[in-house]
Amino acid sequence: MKWLLVFLFHSTVILGLTVVSQIGGVVYLVCLLLARYVFHWSVQKQVLLFFSAYTIAIFLIVPKIALYFEREPLPIFGNSLRPLTMVTYVLNRHYVHSQLKEIIEEKASLIARRYPGTVTYYLDANFPFINGFPLIPHLSHKDGKKIDLAFYYKSKDNKQYVASSPSWIGYGVYDAPKLTEVNWPERCGEQGYWQYSATQYLVPSWSEGKYEVEEERTRFLLQSLAKTKNIQKVFLEPHLAERWGISSLDKIRFHGCHAVRHDDHIHVQIH
Ligand SMILES: [Zn+2]
Repeated sequence: MKWLLVFLFHSTVILGLTVVSQIGGVVYLVCLLLARYVFHWSVQKQVLLFFSAYTIAIFLIVPKIALYFEREPLPIFGNSLRPLTMVTYVLNRHYVHSQLKEIIEEKASLIARRYPGTVTYYLDANFPFINGFPLIPHLSHKDGKKIDLAFYYKSKDNKQYVASSPSWIGYGVYDAPKLTEVNWPERCGEQGYWQYSATQYLVPSWSEGKYEVEEERTRFLLQSLAKTKNIQKVFLEPHLAERWGISSLDKIRFHGCHAVRHDDHIHVQIH
């Protein structure tokens, strides 16, 4: 009976690590087999081996192998472009096709030149390997050609730009429709698409009252993306596209009720 529980425990860990980080499950399995059957190490040493091997893998090995899958990691400590949370790169969720990397880096430096001190934060992109391997819960982020970007924000008190976000993961704090605006979150909810506004449950709303979207920078980024040849489409909630006067740009699209709402982040994809 004990072996069954041990087997179930390790299987669950391997599955969970694979789902959230793609390579964590493989690293765990190799470390487990080596530590148990080759080195005969204690559990503490096994854990230490896993964390050491995983760290070496994500920083030194994975970026090199990812090149064979035409994917590269985005910068993690850049001045003008970096992840909103370190969880993104610790879990290998910051890999993109080289062409998308070039575009995002170019947009981030364009914004930083126009608005000095501005940081473009990226959210979930793609895993490093294998076309078709989805980055759950983003089912379409599976080919290196998709990325989510955070909005830019300002302080509600003094209206000054802040290099931060009301949500620590960038998702789940919405710039919701006003009374007179088109309200797709409500329509989708009424049609039974319960997942449409589900990201609000992912994050605590401690900072919700502190920040509001900095429209000028966010609109400028969206306009620039929509004018870029290799960009296929950009998803944004229709009430924001209308409010910001960019609904006529043909690459700025509504994604439909089957997705999650996009009044908390921008989804970008290339051809
Ligand atoms: Zn997305």
